[in-house]
Amino acid sequence: MLPAPSDATTLIPLAAFGLVFGSFVTALSYRLPRGESIAHGRSRCPACGQTLTAADLVPVLSWVAHRGACRHCGSKISWRYPAIELASAGLFVAAGLCAADFLHLVLLVAMVPVMMTLAVIDVEHRRVPNILVLILAVLALAWRWNGDQAVLTGVATAAAAGFAGMILEAGYKRLTGKTGLGMGDTKLTAVAGVALAVGPFLLFLTVAGVLGLILGGIWRVIMPRPHDTFPFAPAILMAYGLSLAVGDTILQRLVIFLSG
Ligand SMILES: [Zn+2]
Repeated sequence: MLPAPSDATTLIPLAAFGLVFGSFVTALSYRLPRGESIAHGRSRCPACGQTLTAADLVPVLSWVAHRGACRHCGSKISWRYPAIELASAGLFVAAGLCAADFLHLVLLVAMVPVMMTLAVIDVEHRRVPNILVLILAVLALAWRWNGDQAVLTGVATAAAAGFAGMILEAGYKRLTGKTGLGMGDTKLTAVAGVALAVGPFLLFLTVAGVLGLILGGIWRVIMPRPHDTFPFAPAILMAYGLSLAVGDTILQRLVIFLSG
């Protein structure tokens, strides 16, 4: 298997690809929940409707050059655009640094835009689109196949996670009359079950729970209306990405640490 070379000659192009895919994430996360086609229609300024040219669409730089305003009408452009593009570049570089081999790197950088789009749509719309979960599930199968090849175990874990999520959800609804985790989050947990072996999957569940508590706490403090449903998908996806990229390393270090 080809190693994933993690020097400047790979990391700089990875960062550039990350910016471009980040730009794709901003467009997809805007259009998908609004039912707009992704393939057709050039990007337009949402304020003045002016079709944007290639110069307007250079990630981060065009936003900085025009001081976060539309070049045509001067209305403010949300910081979500450069923030998402930079985060994507950072995650592509992180994937380059963590990937065990070339195929793992390809799968990781394929997952980044899908996971980021899911996280952004959940935060902005409280939705977890099935089409994105499906793409992530296919990538999870490929990941498992490229790892210990225990694809059937992965599917069984996913089914068990899905079943447990459904039982928990039904119980929570019965007790409180409200929706708890939500089926979207259960589906994402099932996807993690497909890709991750038992150890990393338990790590994933723990990290997702802890991150959910931390982010949920921050959410209550900073949101103007804290009673809005907390978007749990970003915590799940961060825990999933972490467990995929460095789960084995964390577990090995933990074993060494615990055995003194
Ligand atoms: Zn405009």
